[in-house]
Amino acid sequence: MSHLVKPQSLPRRLLRTPQDLIAAGLAPPSQHAALQAVAQHYATAIPPAFLDLIEHPNDPIAIQVIPTPAELEVTPEERSDPIGDDALSPVPGIVHRYADRALLKPLLVCPLYCRFCFRREHVGPDGGLLDDAALERALEWLRTHPQIQEVILTGGDPLMLSARRLGQIMDALSAMPHVTTIRLHTRVPVAAPERVTEALLDTLESDKAVWMAVHINHARELSEPAKACLKQIVRRGIPLLGQSVLLRGVNDSEDALEALFRGMVAARMRPYYLHQLDPAPGTARFHVPVEEGQRLLAGLRGRVTGLAWPTYVLDIPGGYGKVPLGPGYVDGPRTVRDPEGKTHNLDRL
Ligand SMILES: *Cc1c(COP(=O)(O)O)cnc(C)c1O
Ligand code: SF4
Repeated sequence: MSHLVKPQSLPRRLLRTPQDLIAAGLAPPSQHAALQAVAQHYATAIPPAFLDLIEHPNDPIAIQVIPTPAELEVTPEERSDPIGDDALSPVPGIVHRYADRALLKPLLVCPLYCRFCFRREHVGPDGGLLDDAALERALEWLRTHPQIQEVILTGGDPLMLSARRLGQIMDALSAMPHVTTIRLHTRVPVAAPERVTEALLDTLESDKAVWMAVHINHARELSEPAKACLKQIVRRGIPLLGQSVLLRGVNDSEDALEALFRGMVAARMRPYYLHQLDPAPGTARFHVPVEEGQRLLAGLRGRVTGLAWPTYVLDIPGGYGKVPLGPGYVDGPRTVRDPEGKTHNLDRL
């Protein structure tokens, strides 16, 4: 498509509807009806910070957020709850799979809606905000489960909450003696950095260790405003982790991954997980086979700083947990491979 209107000439507002996308030159007018059909199932939001980064409707930024009619094509291996969250929810807003940690999902709103999202059946602009009573029940569940040492705030995106609401949650978690660590998973610092105000940062002050995992899939998402935002977060004593999904057309090359992970380290962020794509409905166009993912990571081993090497993980469909996917370098009881692929036999391993 060659009719993309230059971003500078576009109004700085959230694009939500098929009409918005067509007006911005991000979708052809001929797709209007098909995109209306997609909109019946899946939310769309393209915030100004992301729109600024789009150079072409097929570029690695654009394809993460622009809906396409292919989203209604579901392949046999895809499922609506790919990682089994629903079965692991003791009360609304809590997901508990591992003994020592639990997810708290206070809302299902995101700053943008990733077309490959594993929760795509659930997230959306008017969904899932826990009301006062439901939030209190979720907090009470955490209060009465002393084995929970780490609470992971996710959603949706916890930084889409008002400072008042987030502060209320942070205060409640900070008051739980058994909780040592509060982790927030968010895309806001890259998707809507202007939301990270001093007032919002104030709410993250806690005597507990607060960690933040930021979801970023392409080096270009680390724009100047995003990097400035991340710096402010680190200044508050919050260590940053980078979280990415391996995506066809976005980061499925050694060069793209190298630029992404190096960009994260330069932005004071430790690449944490590179996720294998979860089989959510209508996401087949983003799938990269695991052998290819292993090859890509192996290509970076030894070439880039160890700080820039994330764990490649699969969330086993059905709710069985996350496992590392390699690549591995042990080739037998006494054999190891080096980054160049040469094997070495050792007396002891
Ligand atoms: C991914 C996930 C976590 C966090 O796992 P880590 O490996 O600690 O990052 C916790 N609970 C659930 C239900 C999860 O899906
Ligand atoms: S920000 Fe996270 S939860 Fe929201 S749409 Fe993207 S992947 Fe899904």
